[in-house]
Amino acid sequence: MAADKGAKVFDLRFLDFPGLWQHMTHPMSELTEDAFNEGFGFDGSSIRGWQAINASDMLVMPDPTTARMDPFMKEPTLVMICDIVDPLTHEHYTRDPRNIAKKAEAYVKAGGLADTAYVGPEAEFFILDDIRYDNNEHSAYYFVDSVEGEWNTGRVEGPNLGYKPRYKEGYFPVPPSDSMHDIRTEMILIMEKLGIHVETHHHEVATAGQAEIDMRFNSLVAMADNLMWYKYIIKNVARRYNKTVTFMPKPLFNDNGSGMHVHQSLWKDGQPLFAGDGYAGVSQMCLNYIGGILKHAPALCAFVAPTTNSYKRLVPGFEAPVNLAYSSRNRSAAVRIPMYSSSPKAKRIEVRFPDPSCNGYLAFSAMLMAGLDGIENRIDPGEPLDKDIYALTPAELSKVPSVPGSLEGALDALEQDHDFLLKGDVFTADAIDTWLDYKRSNEVNEVRLRPHPFEFKLY
Ligand code: GLN
Ligand code: MG
Ligand code: MG
Ligand code: MG
Repeated sequence: MAADKGAKVFDLRFLDFPGLWQHMTHPMSELTEDAFNEGFGFDGSSIRGWQAINASDMLVMPDPTTARMDPFMKEPTLVMICDIVDPLTHEHYTRDPRNIAKKAEAYVKAGGLADTAYVGPEAEFFILDDIRYDNNEHSAYYFVDSVEGEWNTGRVEGPNLGYKPRYKEGYFPVPPSDSMHDIRTEMILIMEKLGIHVETHHHEVATAGQAEIDMRFNSLVAMADNLMWYKYIIKNVARRYNKTVTFMPKPLFNDNGSGMHVHQSLWKDGQPLFAGDGYAGVSQMCLNYIGGILKHAPALCAFVAPTTNSYKRLVPGFEAPVNLAYSSRNRSAAVRIPMYSSSPKAKRIEVRFPDPSCNGYLAFSAMLMAGLDGIENRIDPGEPLDKDIYALTPAELSKVPSVPGSLEGALDALEQDHDFLLKGDVFTADAIDTWLDYKRSNEVNEVRLRPHPFEFKLY
């Protein structure tokens, strides 16, 4: 492939623990057959959440099945996603998210109930003007500094911006209201060219350039790999237009946030296991999977809604779930059973509390482990909640558990409840402890220490 495509260099990609892609590049002469066994060295101590400085030598092992040509680099560049190996023991690194995801897939197969876990994330994002090119009074800096009245809505409308979608009406009028159409089309054509099957793209509900691109479902590791390409392609196309993309879950006060609903199903021998004759046409296995997701949801939040900002999204009124319930129709429920198709092959659950700030490898793996725990222990998900949860009375609501109110709460829940993740050695105690430490010291505490702009208004 490298020869066919005229690759001049190859680029090795891997993740830090929170989930951002890192890379290093080598000339083609370095890509010998031995390289696939011996790997390439790097300093693991410089990567967030990884090795201590005294044990910092690490190896990356390129996975040749992931080879793709980079669509953005000037010279023809072959990209491979890598696994991380300890050079002394030659063992796969327990904090490498891709290793955790591979072990989760192996755990499904070993259990014998199913052989494949499919996932389909709907990662939403905002396309915003790049501040470096937008030095006028309508820029983000101006927004932060805005006048008293605007603190109340958090919105600056500025002069007549013509065809700007009305508040909460971004979903989804045609151009010229949808001014991001061509950018999204360019994004999906590049994805398709790289073999990432896209089903749709559209503007999302929020006013300011919120977007969604949906990839066709895939098996867990393949989808987590593709989610890295997805973010990479989206950000790099945006850059061409002098725009900035953010996958931050709640960038704008009082407007819809960006979720990453994750569709999930289990299959065996090419047959779907979630279709059945229970509620909403699902199987008992599916109901128990839902039971596991709901039971472990507070702990799962530490991986699927893993930023301090995530909890600004998980509030009522913006199509994001707050309450831990399931339903076939109800978009205010944490777990929904989509009813678009009556085909058994389309039967799946949609988990709605994750957001795109998560590390896909860890988030998909954690949810799968929670669902499998539900199946193994026949966890009953209780009665479905087919009402608009936002409209329940306080007395009715008090009976429905809710997602944690903060990252701190989610991390505390994970500390209490993680045995389901340790099964099959999928997540190790070290990986969980490192996640808790990393998130508490670098994010929760760092945010807590800083005076918030709104405190100046209050005090
Ligand atoms: N943006 C919403 C969320 O935060 C979802 C909107 C939708 O896809 N219907 O989950
Ligand atoms: Mg969608
Ligand atoms: Mg959406
Ligand atoms: Mg959805």
